[in-house]
Amino acid sequence: MLEVGAALRTVLDHARPLAALSATPALGRVLGEDLSADLDSPPFAKALMDGYAVRSADLTAGEGTFTVLEEVAAGSLPTRLVTAGNATRIYTGAKLPDGADAVVKQELAVVSPDGRVTLTDPTAKPGRNVMDRGREMRAGEVVLPKGTVLTPAALGLCATIGRATPLQVPPAVVAVVTTGDELVEADITPTGGQIRNSNGPMLAGLVARAGGVPRDLGTARDDEASLTAKVRDGLASANVLLLAGGVSVGKFDLVPDILHRLGVAVHFHKVRMKPGKPLLFGTRGDTLVFGLPGNPVSAFVCFELFVRPALRVLAGLPAAWCQPIAGTLTVAFDADNDRPTFHPVRLSGGRVTPLPWSGSADLRALLAADALLQLPAGEVHFAAGDAVTVVPI
Ligand code: AMP
Ligand code: MG
Repeated sequence: MLEVGAALRTVLDHARPLAALSATPALGRVLGEDLSADLDSPPFAKALMDGYAVRSADLTAGEGTFTVLEEVAAGSLPTRLVTAGNATRIYTGAKLPDGADAVVKQELAVVSPDGRVTLTDPTAKPGRNVMDRGREMRAGEVVLPKGTVLTPAALGLCATIGRATPLQVPPAVVAVVTTGDELVEADITPTGGQIRNSNGPMLAGLVARAGGVPRDLGTARDDEASLTAKVRDGLASANVLLLAGGVSVGKFDLVPDILHRLGVAVHFHKVRMKPGKPLLFGTRGDTLVFGLPGNPVSAFVCFELFVRPALRVLAGLPAAWCQPIAGTLTVAFDADNDRPTFHPVRLSGGRVTPLPWSGSADLRALLAADALLQLPAGEVHFAAGDAVTVVPI
């Protein structure tokens, strides 16, 4: 049976970034092209303070008295040349008038009844409180290279450089098909052998949290016609198709056969792990197909270990998979599993507390979990304080 690492490599070998599209810049997306400045920024030398624009040399011994020529606010332009003995009343963001080389802030000004102003600023020198033209960026300079993740600052810079619709890698559309004759939706009270469909909403949440766009295709019955229709729909309309359930070896586990019949190349089926052993991965063209086990915790763990890294690659991000990190157990812990196991734990400041967990159907155990403890196959006995590795989720 395939090991977890080899299975993940297989998945990543088949994942390619989606083709970039032109769109309004969106938080978290990856740029598909270099974006350069179309203009110098600032486009002119601008005042960084409210105050008076002067020739700094006119403040002999840090002081001078000036005639005020005009007033210039941000958004309007100066009309007068600043010459010896003159100053322009100026506000933050306005263009520095010709002739001036510094701004003295208004807190250092005293206006006399005749309208003249005395400025006292021993630190006045050329460039004081002025941002030179092009200090932030020069026209033609690459400001946001291809591959940049659009953070809030990057969104602001796209606007600064006039790029309203740059090329970005779109989010993957992920179709979700749940399977099982026993499933009913949350608003129904189960009767007979029914249970409520928890995988549907859970997987939609996992997809959205991983940056994808979930498309819930609903529940397929455990019959060929129902499954075939949903799988066809998913293959035709999504970048990734997630199926939950029906992927084991029982009489009603029809997913592997149907995928095969619809032209999906299956790259692996079954991974040496617990939970999640029945996991299936295949492709048809560029579409990735995951047959997740039906038990909710198994589906969750398989998503975090295999689907999330694939979605990162599709979104143009580095293929970093959930990196195991070192931690220390807060309590003694024993286990004996026939396969490498991922046990839900609480992780706080490197301290690892295993959660009570009754197996792959126990979704409630994941409520408080923020990581999975990696356990080898076989018997293990840990004491409190022992070093362990966990995968954050
Ligand atoms: P299967 O892989 O189809 O054999 O399902 C394994 C177990 O998971 C069974 O107990 C199913 O009832 C359960 N199961 C399958 N699908 C779901 C679902 N969408 N929500 C909750 N439990 C499910
Ligand atoms: Mg089933």
